[in-house]
Amino acid sequence: MNNRILQQENAQLKKTLQIAVKEAQRNEEILKRFMDIEVQMLACGKLSQLINLLLVDFKHTFKLSVVTIYLHNKDQLAESLLQDVDPALKKHLRIVQELQSISEIFPERKIRAGELDRPLRKQLFPDNPFILSSVLLPLINKDRLIGSLHLGARELNRYHSEYRYDYLERLSALLAVCIENCIIQENLAYLSSTDTLTKLYNRHSFDLEIDKALQRASRTQQCLSLLFLDIDHFKQVNDNYGHSGGDAILKTFASILKKQLRNTDFLARFGGEEFAILLPDCEPQQAAQISNNLRAVVADHMFKTGSIKNIKVTTSIGVSSYLPIHNDMQSFSELAKILLQTSDQALYQAKFSGRNKVVYKAIPLLARQLNCS
Ligand code: GH3
Ligand code: MG
Ligand code: MG
Repeated sequence: MNNRILQQENAQLKKTLQIAVKEAQRNEEILKRFMDIEVQMLACGKLSQLINLLLVDFKHTFKLSVVTIYLHNKDQLAESLLQDVDPALKKHLRIVQELQSISEIFPERKIRAGELDRPLRKQLFPDNPFILSSVLLPLINKDRLIGSLHLGARELNRYHSEYRYDYLERLSALLAVCIENCIIQENLAYLSSTDTLTKLYNRHSFDLEIDKALQRASRTQQCLSLLFLDIDHFKQVNDNYGHSGGDAILKTFASILKKQLRNTDFLARFGGEEFAILLPDCEPQQAAQISNNLRAVVADHMFKTGSIKNIKVTTSIGVSSYLPIHNDMQSFSELAKILLQTSDQALYQAKFSGRNKVVYKAIPLLARQLNCS
């Protein structure tokens, strides 16, 4: 009799132990998946990458029906950094102008789990009417609410207000730090590469780009043309319309150039009223044509500043081109210097010959090469 009871107890214990081991294995598996996602979050250098990771990989790994994210658009940064998010994912991401619409979701600034009332469910998961339980996580960094993460499931009991969600809370804390880091890093990179007035690339970016463009041109055996532009008599523009009038004209000038160029062209404000344009895969004749078109578009444009309209501005343009036959003649940085010098000399000739002109000049290496052949 005693033996039977012992056997029964033993069997019961075995069963309990098996369940505990299974539970521990399941928890270990879940923890591993969380850690994998966290490592990937830490490796994201761009905000759009981070958002993609959550809306696609995280959702898939944890078999969620839907994931949506709210992000506060502090200083307009989130919006500008998230322009390249996959359009199909954009409906799951909301850039919020007023922080209040996020803080209203979290009156206690704490995680919320379980069933949602209908209006909030419709608000957070507008495209998924069958979400029966969810977890809403405030994203808080340094005591500041910056956004929220919403996980939706079709199973009624998947998320419950009675359960604890330690892993998810840790993930959301880390996510908030990662989001802020990406925003700071990307914004710093943007500020250091951009001219504040015209929002074009600055001289520093140009110096980096011309080397890369020359390397690409050399590898692909294509021409690379460089246009150097200088607004004519800009001192007079300032004298006539004031420095702020001059600034407005510089901004318009920059946007006119930008509109005329291809995505692959590289436009930078070189300094003051001088601009440089790199045209990849562009032969001298074509570069001269493009330059002449730019010159004409500027000359035809009616610039304005404040209430003053119909201001005429012209530009002179110097052009030179790197051709594949220059390969191996110099280092890329040396070639960049020569190309710049040559365009600058061409620009000087354009000024000297009356302004509102385009002058093409072959780089000296080309002349030497041609003489030899
Ligand atoms: P040129 O036809 O020979 O190029 O004559 P210019 O008057 O354009 O040339 P100059 O180099 O003598 O004068 C350039 C002027 O551009 C002087 C400078 O005050 C003005 N400038 C440079 N940067 C800015 C800027 O950011 N804003 C404004 N408003 N003016 C600027
Ligand atoms: Mg100048
Ligand atoms: Mg000038």
